[in-house]
Amino acid sequence: MTQAKSSAKRKAPKRPAKEKQTKKTTPSVDNPGKVLKRSRYSKAEAFAIFKRFHADNPEPEGELDYVNAYTLLVAVVLSAQATDVGVNRATKNLFQIADTPEKMVDLGEDRVRDEIRTIGLYKNKAKNVVLLSEQLIRDHKGDVPEDREALEKLPGVGRKTANVVLNIFFGHPTIAVDTHLFRLGNRIGIAPGKTPLDVEKAMEKAVPKEFSLHAHHWLILHGRYICKARKPECRRCVIYDLCKSPEKEKFDAVPEIALRTKAMIERESAA
Ligand code: SF4
Repeated sequence: MTQAKSSAKRKAPKRPAKEKQTKKTTPSVDNPGKVLKRSRYSKAEAFAIFKRFHADNPEPEGELDYVNAYTLLVAVVLSAQATDVGVNRATKNLFQIADTPEKMVDLGEDRVRDEIRTIGLYKNKAKNVVLLSEQLIRDHKGDVPEDREALEKLPGVGRKTANVVLNIFFGHPTIAVDTHLFRLGNRIGIAPGKTPLDVEKAMEKAVPKEFSLHAHHWLILHGRYICKARKPECRRCVIYDLCKSPEKEKFDAVPEIALRTKAMIERESAA
């Protein structure tokens, strides 16, 4: 009896806790999420991807307006958390009155702030533009250095900005990882990584040498206009049949753009 009482009092064994449901998210700069350990693509597959990008757009260009290395540097600094279109609108007048560090310093922070006030974080950016101009005059005779370390010492200039300037103006095969490139590296799994630097390093390994100069443009444009953050436009994708992303939309047939570009490459290699 005593035994029965005590067993009745005994607590029921705890049910195993329900596995906590984690929201499936696309890795981003702020939320790296779960990432692959290595590229989903062999060397030959990565080559085929960049061959497609090349056939579709042999000479890709950035979308920021500039007239020299200095205005490119300023435009890239201003483009953080702003669209290229918005930056171009703001710099149209600014670069007409100040296209050198000397002229920018003469213009002064207040005036620069007025010129760029339509861009996000404009107060801080105006301050950095004037400070970096002063530093260029003081340390580099007013020239933009062709050197990552020197570029990264300038106010408002991080690795991404340095990579853009080195690539676009000086022709170095650098990969500037912005939010689009970061997403693409992880989404299609060609260069997975938890941080922009991881993705940059993985991308450097994944991109075949012959495509390394233009790779970052192709990827940024692809991420911006086709493989978009909220919903990739797979029907307009030139690498549709090569893409191994689980997020890829399933169609009955390979989209026309991918077939057409593939056929063009085959014709060129047969010629
Ligand atoms: S097929 Fe879709 S998911 Fe894959 S790269 Fe193209 S747009 Fe992105």
